[in-house]
Amino acid sequence: MTIKQPSYMFSAWENYKQWESTCPECNWTGLLAQAVSDYETPMVSSLHCPKCDRKLALMNNQASQEEIVDLAARGSQQAIHHLKRQEETKDQ
Ligand SMILES: [Zn+2]
Repeated sequence: MTIKQPSYMFSAWENYKQWESTCPECNWTGLLAQAVSDYETPMVSSLHCPKCDRKLALMNNQASQEEIVDLAARGSQQAIHHLKRQEETKDQ
């Protein structure tokens, strides 16, 4: 089941790659995993339509440890991966 992109701005730590988005410009519809991501500032990245390059969404790259743990508990792959890596580096 695909989840519709819930808002224009969301956390980069969410499972956004599995969300479906529709471009208001060219009507492209697909998963945000297919969108072109672009670096804006250290804090914000943007996602663009793969067809016409219109900006589809903004992502907040900053998240506190608490937020990451919370998102991992809700199934975000990015957050789970990050926590796993943190765990691994701690052991070294
Ligand atoms: Zn488009």
